Amino acid sequence: MVEQEKIQQINPSRLITGMELVFIRFFLKIRIFYIGIKKYKNPIKASLGLKRMIDFRRALNVTKLTRFVKSNNRYFFGLNVPGWPSESFDTFVDSMFERHESEKPKQHLLSLMFAITKKCPLKCEHCFEWDRLNQPERLSLDDLQMIIQKFQSRGGLGQIQFSGGEPLQRFDDLITVAKTAMKSTDFWVITSGYGLNEDKAKQLKEAGFSGVNISLDHWDGDRHDTFRGMPGSYAWIEKACTNVKSEGLVLAITLCATKTFTSEKNLWKYADLAKKLGASFVQILEPKAVGHYAGKNVDLSYDQQLIIENFFLKINGKETFNDYPIFQYPAYHQRKVGCFGAADMYMYVDSNGNAHACPFCQTVSGNCINEPIDNTIVKIQEKGCPRNQNDTVNENEISSLGPFNYFIT
Ligand code: SF4
Repeated sequence: MVEQEKIQQINPSRLITGMELVFIRFFLKIRIFYIGIKKYKNPIKASLGLKRMIDFRRALNVTKLTRFVKSNNRYFFGLNVPGWPSESFDTFVDSMFERHESEKPKQHLLSLMFAITKKCPLKCEHCFEWDRLNQPERLSLDDLQMIIQKFQSRGGLGQIQFSGGEPLQRFDDLITVAKTAMKSTDFWVITSGYGLNEDKAKQLKEAGFSGVNISLDHWDGDRHDTFRGMPGSYAWIEKACTNVKSEGLVLAITLCATKTFTSEKNLWKYADLAKKLGASFVQILEPKAVGHYAGKNVDLSYDQQLIIENFFLKINGKETFNDYPIFQYPAYHQRKVGCFGAADMYMYVDSNGNAHACPFCQTVSGNCINEPIDNTIVKIQEKGCPRNQNDTVNENEISSLGPFNYFIT
């Protein structure tokens, strides 16, 4: 039996298509409507809320997905949307209803990215945490738990993504934090894959993680190793992917599409590798001039952005490509409707506990240990996304944008 077949046999994650997809899409809408009824006690308000969500998705100008991911009896539609059915999915939908009520101030965050450690053995050329890496830790385990508790107790948080540094370098605390947190939130870990052995994957699953997002920056292993500043990084990715899938965690991989990488040929080679590794999602991020890239001209050209856009729409929207992972390209959506960071849908907390609009727009708006979270969130919302404010819609100079994806498939 070839390795890929073995993995598929033990991996409870799979892509669903065809009639199964049609049924799930139908029941999903029923569930969202039901959450609306529970919330408003009024079918007209619930219908309007559902319609606003569908309109929102249409405004993103994406093709309808031709596949969903099924993992451990839950369905996943996007990297930032909790799996359904679950308490975290219901929490997320409730927040989406609120978000689309224009008369109300935005109370809820849907997703939080939280850097829990400064430790990292790698030297990635694009690292946005570069200036804080490998300094003494500032956040104790108590601080990590307090910050999570503060965010969860506000209500509405559907997902937390633990990052770093390399979050697996603080593994025991990562597990403790997930085990002691409320279960109304999906947990993901964003990792280089370095050191993600079978035992660690098992512990992540047991601690309640939904998925693992592994950074892979080239289809060529040697070039990935060069990008990551560590020989053997790619070999770890192969092992990590197998271990993640063996435990039935959802596997996502993330590409930083640099100027030298971005071509149609490379994107397809990357997609083939992602399929071979068994990823359910692939996220494409654009390089930003922050952290290790600060002061460098790393922005993609307009033509390169178009190459990725065309590839993204084609691979997600055509049934011919149904055996490939679901691709996400946040910059595409955000060019259409603006940024979802700055505590609109998500925000970023760094390894000092400082709150930012997103990992790429690092303007400290408060500290999550010393200051009330609500005040910090209001400050971030008032400042808004710095890039949105600077950008006029200029097709030749398109903004750089944070990692949030779309809802309503
Ligand atoms: S990008 Fe992540 S893995 Fe790479 S150096 Fe930075 S913290 Fe480490």
